[in-house]
Amino acid sequence: MDAEAAAAAAAAAKEKEKDMREWCVALPKVELHAHLNGSVRDSTLLELAKQLSDKGVIVFEDVKGVIMKNGRSLQECFRLFELYHILTTDHDTVARITKEVVEDFAAENVVYLEIRTTPKNNEAKGMTKRSYMNAVIKGLQTVEAAEVVLFDSNLSTDKTLTCTPMSELGGDTRKKMICVRLLLSIDRRETTLAALDTVNLAMELKDQGVIGIDLSGNPVVGEWETYLPALEHAKELGIPITIHCGEVANRKEIQAVLDFCPQRLGHVCCLNDDEWKKLKSSMIPVEICLTSNVMTGGAPSLELHHFADLYNAKHPLSLCTDDSGLFSTSLSNEYYLVASTFGLGKAELFQLAQDAVEFVFAGDEVKKSLREVFKRAEKELKT
Ligand SMILES: [Zn+2]
Repeated sequence: MDAEAAAAAAAAAKEKEKDMREWCVALPKVELHAHLNGSVRDSTLLELAKQLSDKGVIVFEDVKGVIMKNGRSLQECFRLFELYHILTTDHDTVARITKEVVEDFAAENVVYLEIRTTPKNNEAKGMTKRSYMNAVIKGLQTVEAAEVVLFDSNLSTDKTLTCTPMSELGGDTRKKMICVRLLLSIDRRETTLAALDTVNLAMELKDQGVIGIDLSGNPVVGEWETYLPALEHAKELGIPITIHCGEVANRKEIQAVLDFCPQRLGHVCCLNDDEWKKLKSSMIPVEICLTSNVMTGGAPSLELHHFADLYNAKHPLSLCTDDSGLFSTSLSNEYYLVASTFGLGKAELFQLAQDAVEFVFAGDEVKKSLREVFKRAEKELKT
């Protein structure tokens, strides 16, 4: 191939990528695995870090480089976790972060979003798990760039969820509607009692947008038996549960999680052959987080990610970001990665996005409205 032909081929490939990326933004999407803290905008993180530095809490120069970097190492990600931890001891910051995270997801046509967060007790700062959650809920109520649907009853025949048609991307002036629900996370560092508190709080807040329980945190910390009473309590109360599963090869825990049969599972990275078989026969929907898994070492590479195996086995799946801010990704980008890595076409991506509707924790009214969104988008997008 001569230089001219090579340049033409490169230009065509670039054009194709641009088209697919735009299409992935236009695609209505359902996000089921997004941690509040890890989804903070870099610009906000930078601004808040500067404020903390002015107060003498941190040294700005220590974190500036990490915040501004794209493609952070795992070690650098942990530095940001420390920063998130300090930031979320302030109620106003929690509310602001929540507002912005919802606006960012809405901006890329996410029509249904489940945000998960760990309610925190911090006596020194006058924060209780309840007051932390009040701040999150306040954040949802102050969203301006999109209309947030927090209750099933807010959906009616004249008010349905909307997303931006492909033809209007860029020049869109209509206010989008995004359905948002909250999951309360049990942190693996917590005691049984603290975990039970979180489940009871979820029950108390079920009329304020809280619909589920998550188990997450450092996968090498804690024992399954510690959280089991709280998870069983949630099950008895009829609260849907999702569990981070197989982030490390903890055979005993992976077995126990699969036996527990939660409504959804996150990641499922380090499963052995028997566990794969068990997972596939269980048909428990899996929240797939490609970028996150590759960056944290849960998958060796995008090409070798277990998405392909599960997708080919027709296992129920939904693409998710995990921590869009931390890993410098977006849900649209995760869909693009599936197309560019595994060769899925637009029709397959559309189906993948649409299938996720069936795995949401919200009720039938919401599912019905979401199915309508996809029906309306189908003609334009499924090509
Ligand atoms: Zn996660």
